[in-house]
Amino acid sequence: MTDLQAISIDQLKGVGPRLREKLYKYGVFNAQDLLFHLPLRYQDRTRITPIGALQLGVDAIIEGEVKVADIAFGKRRSLICKVQDGTGLVTLRFFHFSAAQKKQLTAGTRIRCYGEPRRGGAGLELYHPEYQLLDEQQTATLDERLTPVYPSTEGIGQSVWRKLCVQALGLLDKHPVTELISQHELARFPLSDALRYLHQPPAKARLSLIGEGLHPAQRRLAFEELLAHNLAMLKTRQQAQARGAVALPASQHLQSAFQKQLGFQLTGAQQRVCSEIAADLRLGRPMLRLVQGDVGSGKTVVAAMAALQAIEQGFQVALMAPTEILAEQHYLNFKQWLEPLGLSVGWLVGKLKGKARQQSLAAIANGEAQLVIGTHALFQEEVAYQRLGLAIIDEQHRFGVHQRLALTQKARPEDGHPHQLVMTATPIPRTLAMTAYADLDTSIIDELPPGRTPVNTVVIDNARRAQIIERIAHVCASGQQVYWVCTLIEESEALQAQAAEAAFEELKTALPQLQVALVHGRQKPQEKADIMTAFKAGQTQLLVATTVIEVGVDVPNASLMVIENAERLGLSQLHQLRGRVGRGAIESHCALLYQAPLSRNGRERLRALRESTDGFVIAEKDLMLRGPGEVLGTRQTGLMQFRIADLQRDGDLLDDVKQVADDVAGDSALRDALIQRWLGERTEYEGV
Ligand code: ADP
Ligand code: MG
Repeated sequence: MTDLQAISIDQLKGVGPRLREKLYKYGVFNAQDLLFHLPLRYQDRTRITPIGALQLGVDAIIEGEVKVADIAFGKRRSLICKVQDGTGLVTLRFFHFSAAQKKQLTAGTRIRCYGEPRRGGAGLELYHPEYQLLDEQQTATLDERLTPVYPSTEGIGQSVWRKLCVQALGLLDKHPVTELISQHELARFPLSDALRYLHQPPAKARLSLIGEGLHPAQRRLAFEELLAHNLAMLKTRQQAQARGAVALPASQHLQSAFQKQLGFQLTGAQQRVCSEIAADLRLGRPMLRLVQGDVGSGKTVVAAMAALQAIEQGFQVALMAPTEILAEQHYLNFKQWLEPLGLSVGWLVGKLKGKARQQSLAAIANGEAQLVIGTHALFQEEVAYQRLGLAIIDEQHRFGVHQRLALTQKARPEDGHPHQLVMTATPIPRTLAMTAYADLDTSIIDELPPGRTPVNTVVIDNARRAQIIERIAHVCASGQQVYWVCTLIEESEALQAQAAEAAFEELKTALPQLQVALVHGRQKPQEKADIMTAFKAGQTQLLVATTVIEVGVDVPNASLMVIENAERLGLSQLHQLRGRVGRGAIESHCALLYQAPLSRNGRERLRALRESTDGFVIAEKDLMLRGPGEVLGTRQTGLMQFRIADLQRDGDLLDDVKQVADDVAGDSALRDALIQRWLGERTEYEGV
């Protein structure tokens, strides 16, 4: 449909600079975008409904004779007009009306109205219906097709959308689209027919089917869109693989030396994933693997095993974490693990300045740092690696695809593409994984290390706050530690910090016998790190925090977490937070405080969390209650925005999508045409 993509909206009648700006906000830049802007619902102006057959909430046209029209003085003055057609009587109600209108609507006048029946004092009523008066002989014509109602919030009226879409459909007639898929039964519905059908359905269209998004025309479009996204990701993967990679033979001694000093056995799941990774690394093509594992499943050890295989062959490894706190945690951990093996661990984050930074950069450049741990500082321009072989990315959902790609540019050209290991603690439902990570192979750590006691979760009304505070005193008196997490809906760090400060003051006063500390995003990185270190060392007993502690922090002695306003957070985020306790053998608890009254959705969310400690079950539930963008955290990154497809609704298409994608992927012209049609200039997936 390249032709239609080449026709910008400026070329359409009625589009001036102001309308153009508004259309841009909808992502509508050209004629094809307009065609992909599908109606939300339809009005049926194709037939007259007998008044006796009107249904509550279903728009309809009626025709009848005005029986009586009068002004009613109730709570609000209104013009009331009763219309009859032999099958029943309906009331028209106008809160705003002119004297002329009142005069028009005299008894005996024939009238045609369009509106939505509501329940009124005397049966069904139409509020402010559109209407027209009919002469004795006149029979006004009816529409042949249903009338589209377009999604619109930016001040573009329905009549404007309709005119624009009619123009776009006219252009579609002049520039027939190329059918790009034939492999699937849905492809029997040509693309242009599907678009025409959905913009202007025939009178007999099954609206309930369209309403559910299950009409073949919709499925046809969703299928092709999902296919295009899948192909875009496969293309990224192919491009990476075409560059090749260094072959890293299996480790002869570092891995076993590491395991000997660990003090625990790898779980069966860890062993399986480690051998999947080891097998990838041996090949002369880049590993592109996603490791999913619930909080506490032991992903870090798996990452260490992968790193050792590369280091043993003389290559450097970069490990990137999303926050400085988490990076620091990894740094301390890996130093403890690797230095006894005679290996050196480097460190690079934004806060590292001056001489220390220069030293770090030098150690990375001359290869002295065999493993480098840091934040996105690791792939800034100024960082040169001596010989990068493997990039490990922890907590993938916090990184944009661009950032992931930037790190992969750091290998020497003759070494091809670095191997890449992505670890995520957000268990991703299968449907999402197939779509969002089609470019990655997946391994799952589906077993927790032995000896963990599952966290016991309770849901408590904030009115019982005093009881919880008493409980904290009790827990700390027994030598254990406690987190108190403050949340806000607003993304604003400032407001979050404020809420945390208030809780901090409150708890300090209520629990004078305890060492209480506060950590939030507005503090200096060094300050944050010091506070965390003191908490880890057991110097403070109660840590009041914002959600900055969400990922990775590991304090096995903490056995209680209180989360304030838990109803405001997403399920997966709550599950992540909760994973900060229950890290040792001590029985641990999580108290979800909520502000009454809870919405139904809120109650359901908190219940899901109380009833399950399985991250996958929770993620599926989260997907159901909140939708994929929130679950993946992709709202910020702009990744995976579909025009038509809906991963929940169309999830059942994904198996077929994958199959067709595998067939099409070899035909690069066809593949690129599909990508161009659906993703156009959007380049998230490009640039490897
Ligand atoms: P996550 O998957 O959330 O990143 P970590 O890698 O931080 O989990 O591991 C959580 C804790 O479990 C760490 O203290 C780690 O040392 C410990 N651990 C990991 N694997 C095992 C195992 N097989 N047996 C016992 N403890 C383990
Ligand atoms: Mg981790």
